[in-house]
Amino acid sequence: MKHTIIGLDIGGTNLRIGAVNENKEIVASRIMDSDIVSKAAQPIEKLCRIIQSFIEEHQLEDVGAVSIGVASSVANDNETVICTTNMRGDDGEPIFQNTNIAQYLKEQLKLPVFVNNDTSNILYYDVYRNRLQERKLVIGIYIGTGVGAAVLIDGKQLKGVNGAALDLGHIPYYKGEDLCVCSKHGCCECYASGWKLENLLEEYYPGESIRNIFKDHADEAPLKEFVYSCSHVFSVMATIFNPDTIIYGGGVIDMKGFPIERFEEEVRKNTGLDVMNYGFDFIYSQPYTEKGIVGSAIFAEQMLNKQEA
Ligand SMILES: [Zn+2]
Repeated sequence: MKHTIIGLDIGGTNLRIGAVNENKEIVASRIMDSDIVSKAAQPIEKLCRIIQSFIEEHQLEDVGAVSIGVASSVANDNETVICTTNMRGDDGEPIFQNTNIAQYLKEQLKLPVFVNNDTSNILYYDVYRNRLQERKLVIGIYIGTGVGAAVLIDGKQLKGVNGAALDLGHIPYYKGEDLCVCSKHGCCECYASGWKLENLLEEYYPGESIRNIFKDHADEAPLKEFVYSCSHVFSVMATIFNPDTIIYGGGVIDMKGFPIERFEEEVRKNTGLDVMNYGFDFIYSQPYTEKGIVGSAIFAEQMLNKQEA
């Protein structure tokens, strides 16, 4: 069996590619602007050339699969990207919309190719890193520019009938009226996201640096409200799922001065009492920029094992 997996993590800003060995170590990696793909005339062909030249450049000879995480829901075929809201071409349209990106890559690369939602891959990484493989029900929620979520039940990803489940950034907040990037009103991301934080900075602390917004203002009303909005979506998910573990992280939560204790307290306070009767472990996902690469390799390994079984 070939043991190196090429893992990709394609977000709105960065595209990361890496070679992951069987010990889940990255033996080579590269980062580039996602624009290289999203602004290309033929995005899938471009992606293919990036993978081919990475393999050649590092003279990787025992590649067993290619695994791609994208910032989008992915259909249950593990090949079709539903919609890349955060990756748009020059025409302003999402670059992948109900697009099978694996088919062409499989033909060209002569390798198995798997596609998954990027957040699910990050949760696979966190579960591996924290040795939580035996847990029954693990929820991961990550607040960065937007909100990403994934759920593992007995290690199996919850995807819904079509793969579109857990689009948590667009869960409605009661009576919310703010306009969301998705065109709906009052979505979770209108109140709990990196872009909301930038709006708060502009409105209440113009001219200051976003990096210090929690450090300098965490105890003031706008930020208290913001942290409460972040905790809300966690309480909803905990109440629905009765998890044994919730993993939380993402760029916003990683920021200096983010009031972790108050945040955790608010989540527990607002979670349904039946669930809180049992409680759950709250685990912080330590920052590490290559989580998505390793996570995609873990996902590929699972898919290959399933095919063998
Ligand atoms: Zn929305």
